[in-house]
Amino acid sequence: MKTDIEIARASQIMPIMEIGAKLGIAYKYLIPYGHNKAKIDCDFIATLKDKPNGKLILVTAISPTPAGEGKTTTTVGLGDALNSIGKQTAICLREPSLGPCFGSKGGATGGGFAQVVPMEDINLHFTGDFHAIGAAHNLLSALIDNHIKWDNESKLDPQKITWRRVMDMNDRTLRDIVIGLGGTGNGIPRQTGFDITVSSEIMAIFCLATDINDLQRRIGNIIVGYSVDKKSVSARDLMADGAMMVLLKDAFSPNLVQTLEHNPAFIHGGPFANIAHGCNSVVATQTALKVADYVVTEAGFGADLGAEKFFNIKCRKAGLEPDAVVLVATVRALKMHGGVSIDALNAENTIAVKKGLDNLGRHLRNLQQFGVPIVVGINHFITDRETEIRAIIEYCNDLGVEVCVCKHWAEGSKGAQELAHKVVALVESGTAKFSTLYPDNMPLLDKIRHIARTLYGARDIFANDAVRNTLASWEQEYGHFPVCIAKTQYSFSTEPNVLGAPSNHIISIREVRLAAGAEFIVVICGSVMTMPGLPRFPAANYINLNDEGLIEGLF
Ligand code: ADP
Ligand code: MG
Repeated sequence: MKTDIEIARASQIMPIMEIGAKLGIAYKYLIPYGHNKAKIDCDFIATLKDKPNGKLILVTAISPTPAGEGKTTTTVGLGDALNSIGKQTAICLREPSLGPCFGSKGGATGGGFAQVVPMEDINLHFTGDFHAIGAAHNLLSALIDNHIKWDNESKLDPQKITWRRVMDMNDRTLRDIVIGLGGTGNGIPRQTGFDITVSSEIMAIFCLATDINDLQRRIGNIIVGYSVDKKSVSARDLMADGAMMVLLKDAFSPNLVQTLEHNPAFIHGGPFANIAHGCNSVVATQTALKVADYVVTEAGFGADLGAEKFFNIKCRKAGLEPDAVVLVATVRALKMHGGVSIDALNAENTIAVKKGLDNLGRHLRNLQQFGVPIVVGINHFITDRETEIRAIIEYCNDLGVEVCVCKHWAEGSKGAQELAHKVVALVESGTAKFSTLYPDNMPLLDKIRHIARTLYGARDIFANDAVRNTLASWEQEYGHFPVCIAKTQYSFSTEPNVLGAPSNHIISIREVRLAAGAEFIVVICGSVMTMPGLPRFPAANYINLNDEGLIEGLF
């Protein structure tokens, strides 16, 4: 069996200009980054305004195992399969972060015969977008500390600065630090810390901004902290937004690459799926919808988080109307929900699969509330047994939900053609009547409770007085924002080990944060990590350059 990087390297990559040509993008509008990556000129995007949109398909998943159930792989496989049956299709994905690449999860460019290439470049520095976002973020951090060192006109309270620093690396030692030590020449000492770049509010803003003006408006609105008289201080107050824009302007153009089967792939932006909304940039999705008939995109985490935020945050804000949803399920994850431990998932256990189907059922009922037609895609692993697969198919048949087995990981487009035909049938049925789960004007606490009850199966939410008071204080100015819930992706509850489809639990809110630039309220339930650490044996230990100068060990 070849590794992902071996398969990727053996592929004949096409010049990126030819991929652009498939979408009708003239050479002059493609800004090449090497031979097989390009950015798409914003001037070109501006010419697309009046073109009709293609069809939008979301790929999401049931509550996953820690290994991931194959959303990225299915997005790539379905995109290739749609192209192979004559539907002009582009895919939209997030850019990978270096953190998981060198940590334990590996890259994020799909796997097997469903990958985007050049996988090494995409997984490493790519076109530099994350570096640009990190630089813009840290420029604001530097301006804040400079501001308080000099006159501090805004009376920013050094103890109430919420803006931290970021880098694109898993480095737990930087979570909590003291800066400004070493005397008056070195600024004002204060406690702060680093987060990983994908959790920067700039990343979320970058991915939600509809155009360059909207990007600047939102960046100006970022709240960096509070003054001694309790007033919020924004990036605009510090006159930071202009210089930050200069760092971001090139990054904001979407990146174009290709799949192993030479179909177009937009890979742009990559916000965290916990404290942010977890999907690629609005600009990339909107551009793809103008130049392709079908667009397949992925939302991070399971459907209770990823799809919910895709619909309630991204689609609401960008006015997108999805036409179909693919819910990825795997035998191994269902077995886990049926009570099997992680190390025993490869052994046959149809009874456990049947027990675990509650999790799939809950996700199906949840997705149905958004009015978009669904097909379940069973991402096939070589260890799957016929009886296990049949149990999933029968369950879906009983519910009257479309379902099929997908083998794109092993076979490429051929393995996902049945899924592609089913998606086309759903899209062409015209039955999608998309709506968000709650209106803008629902009070913030009610929005959280509504999601907890209708999607998580919770009895209620718990919020202490501090959380309630904070939400109430935002109601006037920010009450129309959607909420962005950060909780474990492994469970409908806030406990990662409560599997299946728990009911009647309480969703306890630990903290709420205002993202005034991203325009959502972050609701933290349980523990979330915005600066991950490396595992005892990090992937980095096995990544090398070989004698031919080729990268080995990246996966
Ligand atoms: P997600 O996007 O849901 O996190 P990915 O598509 O990235 O999941 O897949 C997670 C990992 O599992 C990747 O390393 C991928 O190569 C692998 N994988 C996905 N589907 C299969 C499959 N059918 N057989 C074997 N490995 C798979
Ligand atoms: Mg993924």
